[in-house]
Amino acid sequence: MESFLFDHYLKLESNPISYRSLISLRHIPKGTTVMYSYPLACLLIQSTIKTYCNQCLKIPSLTTSSSPPLQACSKCKQIFYCSVSCQKKSWTLHHKKLCSIYISKKEKDDSNLDINNNINKMDEEILRRVSLRIDKYLEKKSTSNFSSSSFSPLETGKEREKGKEINENERINQVICEAFLSLMSHRENLTSDQIEKYKIIAERVWSDLKFKNISQDDLIKYLCKFSCNNFQLHDNQLFTYGEGVYPVGSFINHSCHPNSIVMYEGEKQIIKSIEDIDAEEEITISYIDAAVMNRTSRKNILKEKYCFDCQCSRCLVNFINIEKNKFNNKNKFKITLAKIDQLMEKGSEDIKEEIIDDLIKNWSKMNNSKIESSLINNQIYFIYSKTSFILSSLLPHLREDTLRSSYLHSLDNLLNYLLSKVVVEKEEEEKNTFKLFSTTTISIMTKYFYNLIDAQRWHESWKLGKLILGIYLVIYPRYHPIITLHLFTLGKCMWNDLEGGKDVIKEAIDILKISKKSITITHGDGENNKIVLNDVIELLGMAEKELKNL
Ligand SMILES: [Zn+2]
Ligand SMILES: [Zn+2]
Ligand SMILES: [Zn+2]
Repeated sequence: MESFLFDHYLKLESNPISYRSLISLRHIPKGTTVMYSYPLACLLIQSTIKTYCNQCLKIPSLTTSSSPPLQACSKCKQIFYCSVSCQKKSWTLHHKKLCSIYISKKEKDDSNLDINNNINKMDEEILRRVSLRIDKYLEKKSTSNFSSSSFSPLETGKEREKGKEINENERINQVICEAFLSLMSHRENLTSDQIEKYKIIAERVWSDLKFKNISQDDLIKYLCKFSCNNFQLHDNQLFTYGEGVYPVGSFINHSCHPNSIVMYEGEKQIIKSIEDIDAEEEITISYIDAAVMNRTSRKNILKEKYCFDCQCSRCLVNFINIEKNKFNNKNKFKITLAKIDQLMEKGSEDIKEEIIDDLIKNWSKMNNSKIESSLINNQIYFIYSKTSFILSSLLPHLREDTLRSSYLHSLDNLLNYLLSKVVVEKEEEEKNTFKLFSTTTISIMTKYFYNLIDAQRWHESWKLGKLILGIYLVIYPRYHPIITLHLFTLGKCMWNDLEGGKDVIKEAIDILKISKKSITITHGDGENNKIVLNDVIELLGMAEKELKNL
């Protein structure tokens, strides 16, 4: 384990609050792959089962040959593969044992749990795959004499020679299995209902597979580990396609102000830095969509799902003391983020969906950036003034590749302004129930944004798109896949707006350039992810050519 992490310039350190932390041994510039690892087991969600290979979790590239891109297992006809080698790999890992089970379950039409629900089905299938692999590993471990510490960087030369004999695949298998066994189950924190459900699943899996080296109780423990450790796999557009057990990825602690993100290439999990990370600094990711929730709801979800009280630097700043805090550089980032939390706390009250719906409809009908007097309405003006202010303050910092300090500095001025406005407006006009920084507002806005795109109403779509960008820039980290993808979509809308003329094309180019820079950091140029980068480069080229011809 240590040597696996050491190869990635990382180490584990025990930590009284969060059990252990993953620490970087080197300076990592933003946009770097911090680490990658493979799953102990992973599973496609129902809707992707016939488009993704069930082993490597990739979409096979469209070939000109007439044969379908995915071939089903000839026996059970339920699992699909992109190649013979994927089928073989799956066969040795778990399918050899599972194929006949699928067939018999299909005959009995018994593929569902009594408490019929998809999540339980996923848990059950992942449990089968994980426990088969762990059982095999423990079997091997008990018969051969390799120990879990045989790859320590501190080992003697002789031991190292012996270690080399075990081939690379086995070494990785050992790392993943040992990492999984070392994860905490948090069983004591789960409700008795949950444990009851797990007991039923464990019993079913046990009766199907009867392991030699693990007990039925171990299976329950594994299910507990899944509930607080499993990852949702998403593609380069952030759409979920599967779920996976990544025990090495599970070493990374949560922060509401993370310095890294999780991306995927098929089944490979990639941890990428979105900020510069110093040597001896902890690697952190966000377990939840932190940006669209206020501090209280973040805390509740983390407690319920992941069984811990968030004590990250962002959550520890006391709202009451915000202004009293000394503005030394180290504190400043935390305080800026605490202000965002405060703003979202204010925006978290109940919002009527229809109000926002109407507002956005009115907003997007406007064809001039200046509001016609007949349409002046407090709430529309509220959105307009806020977001144009946000964009004018933050876009210059996105254009130049500025340090995060100058970006956060401008954010700080902005938040002071917004916070003062929110408080004043709330006192003056009680009827103004609409809030910019809330989950409801953002989800309605994005839904409407994509409706406009589907309808090819480009002019309206980019107006709304800019509005959304303004909000995103305040609540998400500077380099976040959601922001980089949104910049690309926004640039595309502007480029499509043929009536917009030269100015809109110019602005589209500007936005696409920022998008290109950001996508290099969040997506990079690995296999699937470079498709996104190439798309931006291609569109940028077309837009620049078009501008020349105007
Ligand atoms: Zn494959
Ligand atoms: Zn099969
Ligand atoms: Zn936190």
